[in-house]
Amino acid sequence: MDYLVATHNKGKRDELVRILSPLGIKVHLPDEIGIALSEPVEDADSFEGNALIKARNGCKESGLPCIADDSGLCVDALGGRPGVYTARYHGEETPYREKNLFLLEEMKDVPDEKRTARFVCAAACVFPDGTEIVVRGVCEGKIGYKITGEHGFGFDPVFMVEKGSFAELSPEEKDKISHRGQALEKLSAELSAIKK
Ligand code: IMP
Repeated sequence: MDYLVATHNKGKRDELVRILSPLGIKVHLPDEIGIALSEPVEDADSFEGNALIKARNGCKESGLPCIADDSGLCVDALGGRPGVYTARYHGEETPYREKNLFLLEEMKDVPDEKRTARFVCAAACVFPDGTEIVVRGVCEGKIGYKITGEHGFGFDPVFMVEKGSFAELSPEEKDKISHRGQALEKLSAELSAIKK
């Protein structure tokens, strides 16, 4: 079975393809197959809701089974912010470096034990016959004190796990523990179970 992956975010797109392909899930990007997907309004109040909005839209516009993810960073000291609004944190078009520096500034007086945070990813798959699957992956960590590492995207350089920041891990190391890696493993298991 071939699937369309609906995302305009390059960092996420690379990870989705990298993680799903070895799981035996054949994925196509919209531009590879000559489809231009619209960007639906992501107005749900949960990661799952927004992942389904994107996957439904991609399925409807392409006629293909469509996989999409919605993800974000939930910081305990900020009352769970930015959460489902992570893509819009400090302005949607602001470069990631500035967003990371802004987050570090917001966290500057927060002591070590209160810097806990988690990345959450909901991955959804919607089929033309109306079948819908949505699963969640979570990765616990802490917000660091400075930008470190060269890999990844988004808030990877300030999100600390045991071995360092997400941006210091190799792509394979990140995928093994990340919210997206976990969500896509679950999605793959569910897809195998329904044998579509
Ligand atoms: P959305 O899922 O398109 O709404 O965007 C989620 C936002 O969360 C991204 O634009 C990134 O800023 C952030 N994000 C999600 N996953 C990751 C990750 O694996 N590393 C770093 N930042 C992430």
